[in-house]
Parts: sequence; C-alpha cells; structure tokens
Amino acid sequence: MNRSSHGLAASTICAAAIGCVPTRNSSGSGTPTRKGSVIAVAIKEVWIPSPHYSSPQSYMVAAFHTTEGAMKYRDLGAWFQNPSAQCSSHHGADNYERGVFGAYVYEDKKAWTQAGANPWTLSIELCAYASWSRSTWLNSKSILVDNAAEWLNYICDKYHIPFTLLNNSQAQSGTVKGVCQHVNFGSMGSGHHDCGDGFPIDVVLDKAKKWGSGGSQPAPEGSSLMSASVAIYQGKQYFAYLNGAGTVCVNGGAVDPSQKGASSGCDIAIDQETGRKVVSYSNGDRIFCTYTQEPGSNSWAWTSKKWTTK
Ligand SMILES: [Zn+2]
Repeated sequence: MNRSSHGLAASTICAAAIGCVPTRNSSGSGTPTRKGSVIAVAIKEVWIPSPHYSSPQSYMVAAFHTTEGAMKYRDLGAWFQNPSAQCSSHHGADNYERGVFGAYVYEDKKAWTQAGANPWTLSIELCAYASWSRSTWLNSKSILVDNAAEWLNYICDKYHIPFTLLNNSQAQSGTVKGVCQHVNFGSMGSGHHDCGDGFPIDVVLDKAKKWGSGGSQPAPEGSSLMSASVAIYQGKQYFAYLNGAGTVCVNGGAVDPSQKGASSGCDIAIDQETGRKVVSYSNGDRIFCTYTQEPGSNSWAWTSKKWTTK
C-alpha cells in the first residue's frame, strides 16, 4: 500500500491482471456514454468503456505504461470493465493490431492509472512487459512500438504537448508539458517501474516526430496487415484502402486506375458540412499525395504535397 498525493490509499488489486496499474485515488463511477458521432478520428479507436474514471483533468503529460499481463487491448478493456478492477487508462494498444487502439475512458475524464498524477496525465497501456529488452521491443514488437508512436503523435498534436521527455520532478509537477513513463511519477504514481529500461522511448519519440502532426497514417508493418480507413458521411460508410497493385480504392473501385504502386496508406476524411472527400496516401517514391473529390462530383483530383513520408 502507499498513498497518493490526494491522501487516499492506492492499493494494487490490479496486480494479478495488470501489474502496473494502481487503484483509483479519487471517487467517480458510472459508465460514460459516447458523445456525438466520431468521424475521421486521428486514431482508430475501439470503444470499450470503463466505469473507472473521475472528474476532468488538465492535459500536461502523455504517459506510457506496460500492462504486465494483458497482451491484447480487448482483454485489457474487459478487465477495465470489471467493477472490482478500480483502474483504467485512456487508451490501450497491442502487438497484434497495427493502428487500432482500445479506448476506455474519455480524454476529458481522468483515468485511474498513475494515482496522484492522474489529474494531468493522458495515459496508454501498452500490452507488454517491463522486463522486455530493447532488442525484444525493436525486433519482435515493432507493431506495438509503431502503435505507441502513433498514439503519441495523436495526443501531442491534439493537446499541444511537446515531444519532450520529462524528468521525474517535471512529470510529478503537473505544471510542465511533455512525455514520460509511469516510472517517472515515483511514489506519487504508486512507485511502479514500467515501462522498463528496455522500452525504446527514444525510437517512439523519433517516429512520432517524423510522422508530424495532422498528416497521414503511418505505414503499417507486417505482411499480414492491411492498411485501410473508414469515414461516415450522411449515414454511409466510405472505405479507403490499397489493392494488391497498390492502387488507391474507395468502396471497391479504383480512384484513379492509372495510379499504382503506393507504398503506404490510405486514409479517408470527409468534411461533414460540405461532403468534400480527401484520400491521402504515400506513393511509390514515398511522397505524400492526395485525391480530392468535391461535393456532387464523381471525379477525383490528384495532388502531390511533395513531402517525403516514412
Ligand atoms: Zn503503469
């Protein structure tokens, strides 16, 4: 047992399932409901609401954790839904699904992940062990490393958090914006040591920076993975993806039959007011390109942004 900065006991009843997660340090209950419709989100979320959250917070710190147990974000979400869990996080990611994130607590609520530091921290649980070596992370957990980077890019862009690694006192201050791991919160964060010495946070930061802000989805890795996205407009679903020839397709048809060999992508966004559709991808020369379809038109206009992508 230890005590959070709020003076409430934080036990570790989560330990069996997810060792790093301390219990709540402030009151709150009830299952949140999804607000509004979520269209063309910057990350793809699977909503698995947890009842374990509390009052609004500030957005100073993006923090990484390792689950020390659950190896899939869906299993983690199931645990967070357990009334006895008394813990949660905003997001979760695993090494099985690239570009998909479990979402457990609204970002404008406080997740119960790092005890006294909860009020100013947005958190993600990586389905991983703190005992993994750097080589394990980089050589056999690259999907999870990329997911971590994509999440960091999303959070830092959305909340204007710099890609700056915080030291312990900065992380614990609640007044300095930046990036840290659970271990940086020290005793106020229940004294956990995740994500471990092997966690390649330098690589995660580098990737998050390179992917920039508000741009295209980073390319998935792994031959069995598909890169695709979906947007909804006036009740209809629009799917964008690359076919086997690397041609950008939307809802089963090639956007531009003369185009092929894309290296990554694609992503689709639809302006909810005008219906303007924008599909982005990286071409064979790894240049960021878009196709745009104006409202009422059946044709797509191609542009190259001339930006080099991953
Ligand atoms: Zn943790």
